[in-house]
Amino acid sequence: KTVTAETPQKTPEATIDISISNPERVIFPESGETKGDLASYYAAVAPLMLPFAGNRPISLVRCPQGRSKKCFFQKHDSGTFGPHVHRIPIKEKDGGTEEYLFVENAEGLIACVQMGTIEFHGWASRADAVEQPDRMIFDLDPDEGLDFRQCARAALDLRARLADLGLVTFAMLSGGKGVHVVVPLKRGHDWETHKNFAHRFAEAMSIAEPERFVATMSKAKRKGRIFIDWLRNQRGATAVLPYSARAREGAPVAVPIAWDELEGLETAKLYSINDADALVQRASHLRGWGFADQCLPRF
Ligand code: ATP
Ligand code: MN
Ligand code: MN
Repeated sequence: KTVTAETPQKTPEATIDISISNPERVIFPESGETKGDLASYYAAVAPLMLPFAGNRPISLVRCPQGRSKKCFFQKHDSGTFGPHVHRIPIKEKDGGTEEYLFVENAEGLIACVQMGTIEFHGWASRADAVEQPDRMIFDLDPDEGLDFRQCARAALDLRARLADLGLVTFAMLSGGKGVHVVVPLKRGHDWETHKNFAHRFAEAMSIAEPERFVATMSKAKRKGRIFIDWLRNQRGATAVLPYSARAREGAPVAVPIAWDELEGLETAKLYSINDADALVQRASHLRGWGFADQCLPRF
């Protein structure tokens, strides 16, 4: 099966020449989407996704037999992805070097899907300068039982505090339970600075409103609160990338949204892989909804 992508910047329709084996295999048993459906989704959103996800080290959630069977989180090259999935050697803490993966085009995304990938997670830095983060992420993780509106309100509050510091942000629905508040940054600072800032900011929020926020991972302390997960901002950590599908019931996807849109939303699973057309449509309206220029990455 050959999938077709819209690449508006170049030719209107470019064929991606990656064959998908077993396109009829059901990957999402609750709602019935197949491996072919997933490949078509990624082909359609590739032009939206790659500016956020291309050219940065990635980890993959692979579920070759579908989301309800064994899945694994893959960080390193296994030599089986073919020519469109690139390798980048990165130094490990122990002094050794490991090969990480990155993609730069729709072929790369689809080659990963062919290998059973559902989710794409990425570093907060790009492959050409892995020691210089360019994106800070506050992953808001609500305690069980908190409704989505509280998480959305929290995201808006983080936005306001970050704006006080001169930082422009956007929100992303995770496709799971929460919202990520994302701060696109100019490169130039190191990981230590990046992590410290994220940690202190999360702590300041929790000190100001301890009944709403926690900045430590412990589940016990989360009771009725939102964990501001700043740990996405350490060297080697990843967060789910914009437009990634999720290996969760209903085939939801992670979606960047404008702040104006977040108010009033009731779920982080607003879109699924069946909504590629709507996502492509809405992407062209993001700016009009208040999605700042600084938040639209160039690729
Ligand atoms: P939700 O909104 O439901 O919290 P999420 O994507 O933010 O969705 P989290 O559990 O908060 O999910 O985030 C976990 C993050 O940790 C993932 O984004 C992923 O990049 C990273 N991660 C690191 N190791 C793993 C692993 N073994 N399996 C899954 N995720 C991992
Ligand atoms: Mn989360
Ligand atoms: Mn988290």
